Amino acid sequence: MPLEYRKEGGRLVWIRSPFTGCVTYFTDIHKKQSGFRRRAVPPAAQPPDWEAAEDARLAELEAAQRDCPFCPGNEELTTAEILRVAPAAVEGCAATTSPWVIRAFTNLFPRIPEVCTGGRNESYVVVEDPRHFADGARHRDELLYTALLPLAQFRAGLYADIAMARLAYTNPAVQAVIIRKNQGRESGASQPHLHNQVIGSDQPFAPVLQERERLAAEPTLWGEILDFVTDEGFRIAARDGCFLYFCPFGVFPRSYEVVYPEVSGRLTELPGPVIDTFAALLHEALGLLGPLPLDYEIHDGPGIPLHAHLCSRHFPYSNIGGTLNLPSELTATLWPPLKPGSNV
Ligand SMILES: [Zn+2]
Ligand SMILES: [Zn+2]
Repeated sequence: MPLEYRKEGGRLVWIRSPFTGCVTYFTDIHKKQSGFRRRAVPPAAQPPDWEAAEDARLAELEAAQRDCPFCPGNEELTTAEILRVAPAAVEGCAATTSPWVIRAFTNLFPRIPEVCTGGRNESYVVVEDPRHFADGARHRDELLYTALLPLAQFRAGLYADIAMARLAYTNPAVQAVIIRKNQGRESGASQPHLHNQVIGSDQPFAPVLQERERLAAEPTLWGEILDFVTDEGFRIAARDGCFLYFCPFGVFPRSYEVVYPEVSGRLTELPGPVIDTFAALLHEALGLLGPLPLDYEIHDGPGIPLHAHLCSRHFPYSNIGGTLNLPSELTATLWPPLKPGSNV
């Protein structure tokens, strides 16, 4: 079955996800006025004491770092360290007094109960940088975010993820491993300090299984998707057979995908150059969204091409009966896509 969509006057009206069956409609949703208003802040009774306010803000930043289990100096607040990468091993990483730049350990709260994975906790946390806040931060919301990391450091983080995946696969109860990032509270992250997760499961992950089944029935499907996104102007980058594009049928509004159509197999078994290129395009994708709340998930293994789904969690999400709305402008005027900091 070919990719299902409808166009009117050259404009995309709707498209159905070939995997989930959900439909995205391109509408004038961007013209809707939100009835929600921010509550007005009452005027201060006294003229503000700027110096005291600044001191309070800086004290707040220090306190946040003091209490953060992922900050240097608080290593004893996490489970036992499994892996650390020294700053000298990562080209271009920010100057730091921390003895590590990347650090991995098991998650205190396993995503999948240990009883499912032979009694061993197979959920891992990889802290991506010793810094809690962005350089020069003056407010607790000015957190470091992954797109600020140099590519070499992002790549080193992916290799740390892969090392954790290898460890998970030594457990005979583990059938599949997924690499997942949540950036920002809105995406479900419980810790603001930059990190991602590696999760081993006793059974295949449902979306990956769904993709594998659809591709078994229709092996040319992803080629069709690539042709479609190229024709629509949704392709953002291509390098050494790997592609980054805006996905019009993502799970959340504003989704992107990085896919290596000719590469399949577990990440733990793939050659370095493939991982390096994949990391470069995923890093480029993160740069499109910058500090916005987001998630990404890497899907790998036999029967599917190596790929990642990257979803912004910044835009209103309303899934009604398996449909999403995206602004029709996206397909007509907003390309090339979002720049970091853009609020469109
Ligand atoms: Zn921290
Ligand atoms: Zn997938």
